[in-house]
Amino acid sequence: MRIALVGNQNSGKTTLFNLLTGTNQKVGNWPGVTVERKVGFIRNTDFEIIDLPGIYSLSPYTLEENISRNFLFEEQVDLILNIIDATSIERSLYLTTQLLELKIPVIIALNMMDIADKRGIKFDLGTLEKRLDTTILPISALKKTNVFNLIQTIKQGDYRRNLYQHIYDHDLENVISELEESVDTKHSRFLAVKMIERDPLFISHATEETDFIIDDLEKKYYRDLEQIVADERYRYIEMIRDEAVEAKRDMMTTTDHLDQIFLNRYLAIPIFMVIMFGIYYLAAGPIGSWTVDMVGTGVEFVSEWMTNFLTNVNASPWSISLVVDGMIAGVGAILNFLPQLIILFLLISVLETTGYMARISFFLDRVFQKVGLSGKSLIPFIIGSGCSVPAIMSARTINDETEKKMTIMLTPFIPCSAKLPIITLFAGYFFGDRSGFISASLYFLAIFIILLSAYVMKNVLFKGKTSSFILELPEYKLPSLRYVIYDVFSKAWSFIVRAGSVILVASIIIWFLLSFDFRMTYGIAVDDSMLAWLGKLISWIFYPMLGEMSWAASISAIQGLVAKEQVVGSMAIIAGYTSDVSEARFIFTSGIFGFFTASSAYAFMVFNLFSAPCFGAIGAMRQELGTTKRMWKAVLFQTGIAWVLAVLVFQVGRLIEVIL
Ligand code: GDP
Ligand code: MG
Repeated sequence: MRIALVGNQNSGKTTLFNLLTGTNQKVGNWPGVTVERKVGFIRNTDFEIIDLPGIYSLSPYTLEENISRNFLFEEQVDLILNIIDATSIERSLYLTTQLLELKIPVIIALNMMDIADKRGIKFDLGTLEKRLDTTILPISALKKTNVFNLIQTIKQGDYRRNLYQHIYDHDLENVISELEESVDTKHSRFLAVKMIERDPLFISHATEETDFIIDDLEKKYYRDLEQIVADERYRYIEMIRDEAVEAKRDMMTTTDHLDQIFLNRYLAIPIFMVIMFGIYYLAAGPIGSWTVDMVGTGVEFVSEWMTNFLTNVNASPWSISLVVDGMIAGVGAILNFLPQLIILFLLISVLETTGYMARISFFLDRVFQKVGLSGKSLIPFIIGSGCSVPAIMSARTINDETEKKMTIMLTPFIPCSAKLPIITLFAGYFFGDRSGFISASLYFLAIFIILLSAYVMKNVLFKGKTSSFILELPEYKLPSLRYVIYDVFSKAWSFIVRAGSVILVASIIIWFLLSFDFRMTYGIAVDDSMLAWLGKLISWIFYPMLGEMSWAASISAIQGLVAKEQVVGSMAIIAGYTSDVSEARFIFTSGIFGFFTASSAYAFMVFNLFSAPCFGAIGAMRQELGTTKRMWKAVLFQTGIAWVLAVLVFQVGRLIEVIL
């Protein structure tokens, strides 16, 4: 007799295995891979038992899942010993519902009963056994309770045979039985479900007839069938849990208590939105703008001091201009925003280390799946509010190729820290007291566009399948000061380094193009500069969103390709040519940018937010998407959306302005 020990990671498989076999075990690897394979005999019997890798599902997405399901499907297995963690019954039963579809008897060892008892979780075993049509034994592998009983049950063959479980709705059950009849293998029910899920490993069993049945079903549901099967499983599991599991409220852990609030079915999303709104309000609202003024004063002081110093040493006018109008103005305009970014980094880092971020991304998995993304996409999106480059790279953890590609293409839509200066500048000047609200509205617009694009891509471009995502949920913790400090410092530092390198060079180039004409004469009118000439070539592109042929705004937006901060830096330099450099707000009182209205300001923000990201992020997209062609597609897609949105915003905004 051969027994397969199957369960989630950390459910106690190895502990139980050692207990059952004693020293009677052999450790090796599964053929061709480095996953550990342990085989042994239950003490004093000839019952062979195999410790399968820890898995959450029998889907084809991971190596461990493939090993386990091939073993169960192809080898002669007489009994599955399914060990489940009594403290997280819902997650565990997801696998169980799949094991029960195989034509192999299943016994459930309900492990960790010592912890469950302590937490006051009570099980109605009779109902559980009836619902799953299988034998369930509560044990504690660590405390060795009831394990003898388990061995006796196995030895005596004294367990339910789980002949049938009714877990799906009517239509689905009917199709399953229909398919079961048309496929002729041992595990026909399992195979039928896998065929409905369009599992690539079982595609060889499909016939014209079965394809027809499944297509028909798909039309009926009008949704991804794999998702429907998963939903049905969860629905069934929730029903069993409500019937047979009772968790005493006052015995719950702090994490459970917090989850009841933060992951509450109705409250989770509003709370998440309030938190994100709060973060952006703090960073871009009153406190944030106060810090901008502080730094602004500092930059003003430095630039005055530098002007005096250079004048005193008799420096030529153009070199004074290079240092003050080029370097200090460009870099200063960026550094203005550093304190705001530090606030933003700090708050997001706190959310990460408390465990909230991981839990909310788990919660949102269902929502993300609906639009074709993974819950794991939330992590790149959140990191993306710092910088798209690491965010795009963090999309690597997404298993599903389509979801990964979509996440990479959509992550740059999140307002990264470099876009924050643009938002703060425009929102602060044009919307005054409501600037916090306007900043938040851009954030929500980004989310909306991401979800919408994902939905469209998923249904038009990739028509693919979705994976299920199960993550080990960390407990809530107090934020770790060391982690937060390190995290904030390293992000802030990389921002400073960029301001000192890329931005500095770009600022000098802009200053040069702006200060000279093609005959290399210095001291010309802005309109005659090389930069103005370049800008005029492209200003028609921006006309529909600005209502003005502005070479200056066009050139500034294009510079977002170098770095998004550069948009503001460039505007500061261009405007500074005619006015005082030290105050960010002076930009809009200058003749060059004086044409901006609330609607064109909002439209311009929208364009800069959604258009192709900086070269750094484009490079990261190239690397993670794999080909230059895909990178171009992404860049064109992003810029196209940006243009259309910005034009829409401007035209609608102008209409509203006229009506009011
Ligand atoms: P595996 O990943 O499924 O092989 O799980 P392990 O056997 O390695 O167990 C994971 C952790 O859970 C270990 O720290 C075990 O000591 C612990 N553990 C296993 N069974 C029990 C149990 O019944 N009660 C308690 N309290 N801890 C257990
Ligand atoms: Mg193990």
